[in-house]
Amino acid sequence: MTQPHLLSIDHLTAHYGAAQALFGVDLTIDPGETVALVGANGAGKTTLLKCIMGLMKPSAGEVFLEGHDVTGNSPVQMVRQGLALTPEGREVFPHLTVAENLQMGTAALKTGRKEVARRMQAVYDRFGRLAERRDQAAGTLSGGEQQMLAMGRALMARPRLLLLDEPSLGLAPLITDEIFAIIHQLARSGVTILLVEQNAARALSASHKAFLMAGGRIVQQGSSQDLLVDPKLRAAFLGAASKEKPAASRLGAAGLTNIRLEKPDMHRHTFMPDFPDDQALAAHQLTGLQWTVRHAFEGSSFYRQRLEAAGVTPASIRSMEDLRRMPFTTADDLREFYPFPLRAVPFEQIVRIHASSGTTGKRKIIGYTQKDLDDWIHFFARCYEMAGVTPLDRVQIAVGYGIWTAGMGFQLGCEKVGAMAVPVGPGNIDMHLQFMQDVRSTVFCSTASMALLMAEEIHRRGIADKINIRKIIYGSERSSRSMRRKISELFGGAELFDITGLTELYGPGTGIECADHDCIHYWGDYYIMEIIDPETLQPLPDGEWGEMVVTTLCKEAAPLIRYRTRDITRIIPGKCTCGSVMPRHSRIKGRSDDTIKFRGVNIYPSTIDTILSAIPGLGSEYQIVLTRDGSSGKDSMKLVIERGQAVDADRTAELVHETIYQVKRQLLVSIDVELVDYGRLPRTERKSQRVFDSRITDEIV
Ligand code: ZN
Repeated sequence: MTQPHLLSIDHLTAHYGAAQALFGVDLTIDPGETVALVGANGAGKTTLLKCIMGLMKPSAGEVFLEGHDVTGNSPVQMVRQGLALTPEGREVFPHLTVAENLQMGTAALKTGRKEVARRMQAVYDRFGRLAERRDQAAGTLSGGEQQMLAMGRALMARPRLLLLDEPSLGLAPLITDEIFAIIHQLARSGVTILLVEQNAARALSASHKAFLMAGGRIVQQGSSQDLLVDPKLRAAFLGAASKEKPAASRLGAAGLTNIRLEKPDMHRHTFMPDFPDDQALAAHQLTGLQWTVRHAFEGSSFYRQRLEAAGVTPASIRSMEDLRRMPFTTADDLREFYPFPLRAVPFEQIVRIHASSGTTGKRKIIGYTQKDLDDWIHFFARCYEMAGVTPLDRVQIAVGYGIWTAGMGFQLGCEKVGAMAVPVGPGNIDMHLQFMQDVRSTVFCSTASMALLMAEEIHRRGIADKINIRKIIYGSERSSRSMRRKISELFGGAELFDITGLTELYGPGTGIECADHDCIHYWGDYYIMEIIDPETLQPLPDGEWGEMVVTTLCKEAAPLIRYRTRDITRIIPGKCTCGSVMPRHSRIKGRSDDTIKFRGVNIYPSTIDTILSAIPGLGSEYQIVLTRDGSSGKDSMKLVIERGQAVDADRTAELVHETIYQVKRQLLVSIDVELVDYGRLPRTERKSQRVFDSRITDEIV
């Protein structure tokens, strides 16, 4: 049996004396919905509300509440059954105070004193202005405040269905904005709303579905978004002002020509996939693998050659086991086929490129089709969703924009989830602190060291009470438990979410820590993860540490087949306590090659080699020393370099200056340099250790 509608109106007819006002109206409302009832003045909207509320007796037809016939019930009975009305013109009691007016909302109910006080506080929490004026006579309030009071009074009854009659009538545009923001909040918190409005554009963009009334009849109904963009409807019903259509002009004047759809409704919308079990996900993965192999084979000469050499044809992929027959792809392959490696679609289908940060002339460039971008943004929105970010959040983004993937990903994912993006970009701590205070950002996205730097600065300036950050989403470098703890503490207990990703695999957002903070969930519906032994290249069982290898399932412009990410992690078998069906892995522990991550930038020691060897006067031996300042959390890099043989010590200052300059110019990072005498650094027969990284000293996972 299907769930009955919350409210169902069946062929309702009503008369004022001999004049018929409603002609067989049918309408349904389901729990959690916001339904708009739109029409010109005199269309019958208010009459219908009166019939629902028991303020007027219908002449024929029925009203059902959760399947029970309530036709002809009195208004008091309807309030007890969970309906509340905010009438047109507010109808507050002008000589009673705000608090007394609110109490009237529970008059028909047997509500205890304590419960009334609790509900009143909840109304004050929602409507700050009513709280300020609680002892003021309602008649002295502004129109907008009276509307808030009328809504607050209705909410005192904790209604299952809230009927709002013309909430914006007679209000200034800015106040109307405020009232509709409150309606949005109510809808998101799960209140079912029937919204009656002449302002059609407003009502449609604030609701899920809508009924359009004219002459006492429902003349059109459907999803509000569809109605908003229906050209016929816009012309006939919501059209711009004209002499011929005076009724339409009031609606047209509501600004439909400049309409924008409101933010997605997170109460109902999810970016999570709905695989019922592991088998369903596995079946999806196999289909994706088969598609990817065929697509790569047919679209990319690089892949075709590799697959043919390994004896793999698209038709031979029958199970996930076949994955192991396929050759690996590496970062070197990407560099070899610079600037458009792995390209498997014609150029006209590529709409954007991004590049990974790193070494000059050896960047990894990745192309994207529109679908690739859509997919990326979708699962990035999923990351925000997993971190509990909603349209009410303000997300301050402190990562790099432009050719790097990070900024775009964080930005577009944020907009997709409906939160407010505050794209400040990397660095510039003063500007970040200013925005944090002024726009009251609630989420901060950065690298872990940037987050720590900010936290320290907030602490140092003593402005912690002006900061509202409650979630920090950070990525692109390792972080220790102690570092996380410190960031959280200094941000007043903010929750930290480690986000993963790499440019080759769309960008950041390919996985994120869940609210149980025990693992990274990765998007198994977009790519397959294997863990291999980086020495033997053999797959490792779940639970063992090794190198992450990824195969994409629907990536078009540059598909990845067994791409070696060099990141060290492990797959965590079994379900997470958070209930998510998505598979999971541990936080990234390090790299299987000798890449250095420094302030979010990938640096290959070989590049430093190249830079140093181009400066006459320097010797061939050097060490890279990475440290992290315990109090500021700032990473530092120092190069300890030998002077060349027979190079005079009084050239030291000049050589140090030149080295710092060249590294800054080519790698865009600032470093310290120490020159030592020739022969001072240790030499071994084996490859000498050049990188000394003391940044992370405690446990990582
Ligand atoms: Zn989880």
